[in-house]
Amino acid sequence: MGNTYVIVAETRGGRLRQVSLEAVQAAVLASRDEDKLIALLLGHQLQEAATELARYVKDQVMVIDHPDLAMYQAEAYLAALAPALDQLQPHTVFFGHTAIGRDLAPQAAAHLNAGQISDVIAIAQTDDTVSYTRPLFAGKAFENRKFTASPQIITIRPNNITPAQPTPAPAEISELTYSPSPSLRTVIKEVVSKSIGRIDLTEAKVVVSGGRGVKSKAGFQPLEELAELLQGAVGASRGACDAGYCDYSLQIGQTGKVVTPEIYIACGISGAIQHLAGMSQSRIIIAINKDPEAPIFKVADYGIVGDLFEVVPLLTEEFRKVLS
Ligand code: FAD
Repeated sequence: MGNTYVIVAETRGGRLRQVSLEAVQAAVLASRDEDKLIALLLGHQLQEAATELARYVKDQVMVIDHPDLAMYQAEAYLAALAPALDQLQPHTVFFGHTAIGRDLAPQAAAHLNAGQISDVIAIAQTDDTVSYTRPLFAGKAFENRKFTASPQIITIRPNNITPAQPTPAPAEISELTYSPSPSLRTVIKEVVSKSIGRIDLTEAKVVVSGGRGVKSKAGFQPLEELAELLQGAVGASRGACDAGYCDYSLQIGQTGKVVTPEIYIACGISGAIQHLAGMSQSRIIIAINKDPEAPIFKVADYGIVGDLFEVVPLLTEEFRKVLS
């Protein structure tokens, strides 16, 4: 008889997050044909997201829909998740390595008395063992880890594992009941989003980042235009954030966000090791810097030595021609 693999999926603004489809694929890669794949979706007003998720999951989508779960709150989410996990007795549970996943996964691990491997970027199955690859020392090295027992908890770094493909037939959708605890110690009243972009930086396929070289808040304008044209997001170095040119929610690096887009365009960023920690795994890196010795060129696939205020508008113009 097979084991049960569970994916804890996430929504944002009512829509299924792409990292959840990557987590579904992670479960596919780690499991065998006879194993069951079940996705759990927690939140409120989840009908559309559940229907979409069901297209990608082999066996079942279980929905826990309640107004108290509309916004992430650790206590309420664990109270909803724990009985479902007790019922399913999973072999492995997959989360996105997101703000929610990073908070909820260790609590689920403690509840199940499970081991956890976090921030996984690749999965390989050989014979009877599954190995999980994760970066170490801010991406300077990688380690392959294996579990020796179950239950197991995994978190998946966004944008590294190809999202799952639709299955031949949609999974069955069922509802689990959630009885809210009258004694929650914290209640989320409101979430104030600081992000200025419409596309989530950590899930964007294209990121256009500015450093101290942009010189002012207004200096980000050409970068925003390019990002919008390429349907990407704007990021920044800490240098730019510290200088007050942009909000810290845009910071990429060791103490900021980790991004792995298809294309990362670094404009006026020197390439300090702490910045590289947040973007060096991007598929294609394009660096624009007027200093030919800037360290960013060591990790760049394409380097443009020049003034970003000349180069970025030219790039935008050329991309506009190609895309129109
Ligand atoms: P600078 O190093 O000043 O580089 C600006 C670059 O712009 C230069 O290379 C210059 O040649 C170029 N330039 C200037 N004008 C133009 C122009 N007109 N056209 C083209 N190029 C131009 N940094 C991060 O980014 N993320 C982090 O998470 C982070 N965490 C840190 C944690 C710790 C504990 C510490 C100590 C530091 C951390 N830093 C982080 C800071 C990091 O060390 C660097 O100071 C920072 O990344 C530098 O930002 P920058 O490249 O924008 O600025």
